[in-house]
Amino acid sequence: MSLIQCPDCKKQISRRAVSCPYCGCPAEFFCDFADETTTKKKNDPQDTLPKTLLKKYFGYDFFKECQEEIIGSIIRGNDVLAVMPTGAGKSLCYQIPSLVFDGVTIVISPLISLMQDQVRALNDSGVPSAYINSSLSEKQISVALDRAVAGEYKLIYVAPERLGSAAFMSFAAKTELSMVAIDEAHCISQWGQDFRPSYLKIADFIKSLKRRPVIGAFTATATTEVKDDICCILGLNDPDIYVTGFDRPNLYFEVDRPKDKTEFVKEYIKTHPGESGILYCATRKKTDELYDTLISDGIKASKYHAGMSSEERKNNQNGFINDELPIIVATNAFGMGIDKSNVRFVIHYNMPQSMENYYQEAGRAGRDGEPASCVLLFSPQDVIINRFLLEKKDFSDIPEENISNIRDRDMLRLHRMEGYCKTTGCLRSYILSYFSDSPIRKCDNCGNCLKEYKEVDVTSEAKNVLNCIYETSSKYGETTIAGILRGANRARLREIDATSLKTYGTLSGNSEKSIRAIISSLLDDEYLTITNNEYNVIGLSPKTADFKKADFKYYIKETEEPKEKPSSKRTQNSYLTSLGFELFERL
Ligand code: ADP
Ligand code: MG
Repeated sequence: MSLIQCPDCKKQISRRAVSCPYCGCPAEFFCDFADETTTKKKNDPQDTLPKTLLKKYFGYDFFKECQEEIIGSIIRGNDVLAVMPTGAGKSLCYQIPSLVFDGVTIVISPLISLMQDQVRALNDSGVPSAYINSSLSEKQISVALDRAVAGEYKLIYVAPERLGSAAFMSFAAKTELSMVAIDEAHCISQWGQDFRPSYLKIADFIKSLKRRPVIGAFTATATTEVKDDICCILGLNDPDIYVTGFDRPNLYFEVDRPKDKTEFVKEYIKTHPGESGILYCATRKKTDELYDTLISDGIKASKYHAGMSSEERKNNQNGFINDELPIIVATNAFGMGIDKSNVRFVIHYNMPQSMENYYQEAGRAGRDGEPASCVLLFSPQDVIINRFLLEKKDFSDIPEENISNIRDRDMLRLHRMEGYCKTTGCLRSYILSYFSDSPIRKCDNCGNCLKEYKEVDVTSEAKNVLNCIYETSSKYGETTIAGILRGANRARLREIDATSLKTYGTLSGNSEKSIRAIISSLLDDEYLTITNNEYNVIGLSPKTADFKKADFKYYIKETEEPKEKPSSKRTQNSYLTSLGFELFERL
């Protein structure tokens, strides 16, 4: 270990020490920054030390929003709950205090890959740290813990499952613990999207310590229920709560419903040449398919999903980060811990299961603060598929008594996600009110704010649609129903003897597109349901009783200038079929 001389008491101390163990002089003030710092008052290092450490170890000149305040609270010994969106810089908020404190900071983190990345980065920057998780052998764990007891590390990252192990408890009993930082703290809450029962062990671990260290909880999920759960279950002691703005003004949000999502994606990439983007798909199969289509179209892209070898994934990830292949098609397995600032668009090929997931994934766009777009391609089938997937969710490691609660909350979250796709209000405002931030009325930087809507009364047309479905005993899909109502003369309609129907031609004055828009809106509003089969058959829902009320009116919002989307060569039917197929494959 290299030694230097303390300028105050002249004793030899470790070059890595953050303060002189003999006289308390803050060592950072003379390590590499002698000139600028020796004049600073050493008896008040708390004001300047974090900033010095920020520069020395992390190379940054300025704190991001709230970082300095959070670090200040922790250094003063206050518990903290920090709610900051992905990419806001939560890690530094516990890494810097760990350097200020004597003793070891324990960081509880749910993902092995995240721990490994952070520990590697910390050691590269000269902050000695280690991780304890299932990727290490018992022997390696024991060596790491011995070193930790000997004071060789400032931070120990640990998986929550390890906290109760005899080896870890013995280390904790023998070592001065300065802080326990809980990363991704929403995992403790059943309201959170990734409840981890092992997070409940954290409270017991803290209680078992002879001296209670400072506790810091960090998350990007800000719903009131999750915040309350974190404070309560962890037993935070009158914590300082910091919530930074969730708004990302440089991100443009849009929800689209193209008839052919693949065509939409290809067109988008072609009209945004040279831009880096992520295309999120719901399944591995769709990821492979979309990737193949892009490649055969001459678009430079790579792909990432959990079915690929780890080497392939690593190479593709690096190719994307280094801009060799600027576009990546991926499942939601991609993105955690990835820090690429110039992602110009994130397109979701399918609707995710929650706003938490969506905002985290979409938020990977525009980290450099430059304008970037987040486009979600919605279709009603996405809801059916997600509902089905949630029903089949694996609850094997969740205690029996929690399962029904979690199911209800999953469905609620899905419902709110669906609401985002269907709202005609400001999308940013929807996001901000979801995350309990102050919503705004109109942001003028989302698809809905930039669209001019007019409300059109289509009560009578909608009744015709319902009558037609009733008359044909809910046997047909959108194309046939629209064809009957419009009075079209097609082989399929002749085949079913459509001209003999009472509703045949009752909407002959409307375009097929406008009839389809009404059907689509009725589906969205759950007056109609798609019966989940190969032919995309549409049926009536009990809600249609509304139409029997004398004063009931049904409106749809129409855009003043409807955007023309790339034309579709595929049919809706084939889409559902292929997704259905993927679903079963995945199950
Ligand atoms: P979070 O955990 O909130 O998602 P991270 O801690 O992973 O965010 O940080 C996101 C990125 O921001 C990282 O690349 C990190 O190095 C960078 N970062 C953190 N603090 C600062 C800062 N003060 N100045 C510049 N970049 C920062
Ligand atoms: Mg983080």
